[in-house]
Amino acid sequence: MEQIDTVKSLCPECLRKIEGIKYVEDGKVYIGKECEEHGKFTILISRDVEHYKKMENCYEAERAKPKAFLNNAEKGCPFDCGLCPSHKQDTCIAVLEVTSRCDMGCTFCFANSTSSGNDPDMATIKKMFETVKQCSNDPTCVQISGGEPTLRNDLPEIIKLGRDMGISHIELNTNGNRLADDPGFLNEIVDAGIDAIYLGFDGISDEIYDKRHKKMNFSKKAQVIDRCEKVGIGVVLVPLVSRDYNLHEVGKIIDFASSKVPTVRGVHFQPVFFSGRYPSEEGRITIFDLLEEVEDQMEGKLKITNFTPSLMPHAHCGATCLVVVDEYGNFIPLTNISLGAVESTSDIARKTKNSIMGRWKGMDESSSCCSKEVEVKSSCCTQKLEIKSSCCSKSDQENKLNSDFSNGWADFIELSKENYLTISAMGFQDAWTYEQDRVENCCIHVVTENGKFIPFCNYNLTNCKGEYLYRNAG
Ligand code: SF4
Ligand code: SF4
Ligand SMILES: [Zn+2]
Repeated sequence: MEQIDTVKSLCPECLRKIEGIKYVEDGKVYIGKECEEHGKFTILISRDVEHYKKMENCYEAERAKPKAFLNNAEKGCPFDCGLCPSHKQDTCIAVLEVTSRCDMGCTFCFANSTSSGNDPDMATIKKMFETVKQCSNDPTCVQISGGEPTLRNDLPEIIKLGRDMGISHIELNTNGNRLADDPGFLNEIVDAGIDAIYLGFDGISDEIYDKRHKKMNFSKKAQVIDRCEKVGIGVVLVPLVSRDYNLHEVGKIIDFASSKVPTVRGVHFQPVFFSGRYPSEEGRITIFDLLEEVEDQMEGKLKITNFTPSLMPHAHCGATCLVVVDEYGNFIPLTNISLGAVESTSDIARKTKNSIMGRWKGMDESSSCCSKEVEVKSSCCTQKLEIKSSCCSKSDQENKLNSDFSNGWADFIELSKENYLTISAMGFQDAWTYEQDRVENCCIHVVTENGKFIPFCNYNLTNCKGEYLYRNAG
């Protein structure tokens, strides 16, 4: 056993702050920690120490401070959210929950939503948008979430309110049930100014959906994507992933997504973490496990090395790969860990927000985002050439790719403006995997009804009995 770091963490039983160590054994990385009252806890955080270190080594970001702090730093992280002055990172996206109700009752649910619950009224929602404007530097991005937001008939008014208040980007987190059944409602939220749909999408077979909730099936999800295509709204597919649930379908999900480009702009995997409802504790996977499955299932079309740390707060919070999909279904990855995650950024939060708006809203509507992307792509010309030679081993593919780009880089940029896909994963934390260093740098902040900004992992943090630290606290 070799210790590689120390970690400030929590006891999963009592949520007391405890110190621990990160150590390597048989090439795997673990957190080991001990509570004086509840004993020792050990959790695997990566199956591959080399990959773990590479992610750290290629991540370098200067932080952008939040615009305002709403709480004093008194008790110490994580008990001062927030944000408190110890917080190191501006908001990339604010999550605004407009209801705690849901129509599905899924086996997995981070928010523990049921068919009953309270909805904040419009005056409260207005205050929540004001909190976003107060704390987050421009541009401001909001994800409307829940519960299931489409249960509210006044959702179009909520979106319009955010628009009128100057929120730069509004996306909707939804299970898609109502959007599939009620096309008129999709038209209403589009007219109100929604920018993108963040669609729960756990697989491409009905057996997957049967395991989570009987009311949903694959054809409904496909119907939502087709409807969004008709009205010109981009979709991000959001699979919750668990080992014994749908890990075997991650490659098919990416292939399906690539067949729906440009309407589908991204796939954002969310490995299960232990908050809210979950059927068993067996399904935990690390980011590395997920990337390994992606590489295996896609037979090398995408490689683990194509994923870099996300333009997010911490090397171990997420992984991202940006690919261009050509008309033959070939993938041309634009990211590679050997080139690093972020090139000399002075404002990572702004870049991430531009990235969210640019990739998920559609580059053509957002020239500043588009030019950012082009900049990034131009600067990785060498990378593209490398990737072409490694991923297009068949000579006919090579010829096609060469002929497609016979006008050079300009053709490639044209193709990439429409036919790109962002594949990413976020490794949400729970009381077992918790690292203070990660959450202090979090840029995904839940705005609460009582005017707080709380990092997503803290907002959903529970002890092992399922009692929340912050959610349901008003
Ligand atoms: S997560 Fe951020 S806001 Fe919350 S207590 Fe820690 S430093 Fe403060
Ligand atoms: S929500 Fe959790 S995993 Fe995501 S960026 Fe914040 S701390 Fe990291
Ligand atoms: Zn304890």
